Amino acid sequence: MMEVEVSLIPDWAAERRGMVDTQLRRRGIRDARVLRAMGEIPREEFVPAGLRAMSYLDDPVPLGDAQTISQPYMTALMAQELELTGTETVLEVGAGSGYAAAVLGALARTVIAIDIVPAMAQLARENLRRTARDSNVSVLEGDGSLGCAERAPFDAISVAAGAREIPAALLDQLADPGRMVIPVGPWNDQELRVVLKAGGRVESRISTLCRFVPLRGGEGWN
Ligand code: SAH
Repeated sequence: MMEVEVSLIPDWAAERRGMVDTQLRRRGIRDARVLRAMGEIPREEFVPAGLRAMSYLDDPVPLGDAQTISQPYMTALMAQELELTGTETVLEVGAGSGYAAAVLGALARTVIAIDIVPAMAQLARENLRRTARDSNVSVLEGDGSLGCAERAPFDAISVAAGAREIPAALLDQLADPGRMVIPVGPWNDQELRVVLKAGGRVESRISTLCRFVPLRGGEGWN
């Protein structure tokens, strides 16, 4: 009788390579450090246990509580727009699963990630610890629409939830020179803005259209 071997254990490394090639490189992600980080970080460890099969799909993954881990392409694009070189202190608003924080941690010196939902901050912390990505990434609980004054200024700020307008506190806490990526626009329909601060001036441009969960808090949708 012929035996057919069926592997039930997914080849995560192969899925990860496929994701990097088809979803990132082919769509114009060019920053070699971003491609390398996303080729190494086990996204499946940041996805809820019952949804692991979705880890490398071209979609956001639900985290519960109406939150999602962003689509891999969006995480990559945001990281690329920040043009990190490895020396920066970065604030991530909306830690969620901790996946984007892990990616930023691979690209910068220090990452402070903050989440307004205590259970999300806890989840991010656990995921980062389990994957040993927590040496330069710390997770705080709080309203990131107000930034994190105690740790400011930040060379880069990445906001993973849609804002009505760019929160003034985040602009204040951005270093000069500094860069911020933030989805801005009406509820559920935004443009990803890249904000550059340099020489005391602030400019912004639109990177792409996007759809993020709403930024809550004092300078968010409340
Ligand atoms: N970057 C995350 C995805 C985040 S989803 C990842 O890679 O998994 C958006 C997150 O923003 C949610 O966890 C939500 O709780 C958080 N959030 C919304 N408003 C916030 C605020 N004002 N301050 C901090 N976190 C906020």
